[in-house]
Amino acid sequence: MANKSKFQAIRGTRDLLPPDTALWNRVEQTAHEVFTTYGFDEIRPPIFEPTELFARAVGGDTDIVSKEMYSFPDPPEATEGSRRFIDAVVAIGEEESTSEGKTKRITIGEKHLPELYRLQEEWKKSDLASLRPEATASVCRAYIEHNMQQMPQPVKLYYMGPMFRRERPQKGRYRQFYQIGAEILGGPDAPAIDAELIEMLMTFFDKCGLHGTELSINSIGHAADNCRRGYVAKLREELLKVKDKLGADSQRRIDTTPLRVLDSKLEHEQAIIATLPHIADHLCDDCKAHYAAVKRELEARGVIYRENWRLVRGLDYYMRTTFEITAQGLGSQNAVCGGGRYDGLVELLGGTPTKGIGFAIGEDRLILSLQEGGKAPAAQGPDVFIAWMGQNAYATAIRAAKTLRNTGFRVELPGTELKFGKALERASKLGSRFALILGDNEVQSGEWTLKNLATSEQQKLSEQALLEYLRR
Ligand code: ATP
Ligand code: MG
Repeated sequence: MANKSKFQAIRGTRDLLPPDTALWNRVEQTAHEVFTTYGFDEIRPPIFEPTELFARAVGGDTDIVSKEMYSFPDPPEATEGSRRFIDAVVAIGEEESTSEGKTKRITIGEKHLPELYRLQEEWKKSDLASLRPEATASVCRAYIEHNMQQMPQPVKLYYMGPMFRRERPQKGRYRQFYQIGAEILGGPDAPAIDAELIEMLMTFFDKCGLHGTELSINSIGHAADNCRRGYVAKLREELLKVKDKLGADSQRRIDTTPLRVLDSKLEHEQAIIATLPHIADHLCDDCKAHYAAVKRELEARGVIYRENWRLVRGLDYYMRTTFEITAQGLGSQNAVCGGGRYDGLVELLGGTPTKGIGFAIGEDRLILSLQEGGKAPAAQGPDVFIAWMGQNAYATAIRAAKTLRNTGFRVELPGTELKFGKALERASKLGSRFALILGDNEVQSGEWTLKNLATSEQQKLSEQALLEYLRR
């Protein structure tokens, strides 16, 4: 035997197969429908973007950017980076006149090197692209690129599609996974906007048939001394007192992102974290009022929530409302959605100051939870299997298949003639509901035989009557 190597999907990626794909489609269709009723339109950004976009938006020292992105060189024809590098080198030169006309003598001294190295680094980075690990950055980039701030505000967009993160694959955690998300950009930051977005999300889960979801909310204030920054300083102070008792990750975060210590799932850190100060006690008056109003607005919409003071985000531009939704049957990967307000992000990406809030649903986990809850669709068989015998009948069978399919029925038409018994056997193996039996007799009389495969009942019907019967 020749050495046949078998290919397998790359670790952390997987094939979505029928009948599961029917459930994926149903979920996506539900998202299109529900989000549209709330005035959202779909955006489809590219799957890869400049690495810099994610570095800036998601944050250079997050796990996502520092070690989980799939990046590759993708030099544009003439990069902005190379242009700036060449300009800088030319600027160093001094003009002189020679017999051949004006030339430039460029002498690069040691003092020029730091600036040139810096530009070289920038150039290198501008030549890198990454598969998107999330889509908020792309949506904000598109908002700026297409001058959407000139449209009526706010602009409400949703997206769905694959995201890529090189993390440790496990149940509910993949390297290619799918998100369904929505963003509201521009306009005011009225608490009603936050609440309506969350209401939409809960309606979507409900319409998908996902039960047992839990919504947690929190406010992380804004980046000011009298608000979050003051709290973080206090938190750091308290964390330093208990530093020895914390794990290595948390110890490191005391310096970098103390808020993220609150995220810790480590068993032995839980009792310590429980004693730390709560951000709610350190919010400025505006953020406090905003949070209180968001809760009132949720109540007005009948949305049930739980407050979780440990629900935080590590980046500066995140502010005020944050939320997370968990679902059942997912083990420790039980978050199906994360979201929050990010009023500084568009500006950080080079746009004008713009309010923003959004969420991202983990579609893989949503589907898993639906399946655990018994919402998996059964494999779908044909509505009608056409058992034809003889070339005369075949022509009629082709025409019948076309008519039935046009009407929306799922039809199986065997491409080769089968003996009667074999045809019926194949029809039931496929799980067909009906067999349409077409032989010379049927074609001649114009009375077709329709057999219900569940009850074995058989009846003779004209073509027209058959269509009407099936429609019912
Ligand atoms: P987690 O804490 O579970 O890693 P996260 O904070 O990284 O989640 P976000 O970046 O906020 O998640 O993404 C929103 C949602 O996308 C998550 O709540 C989760 O449902 C889903 N998600 C994130 N990473 C993955 C992954 N690797 N595989 C499958 N789903 C994922
Ligand atoms: Mg993660």
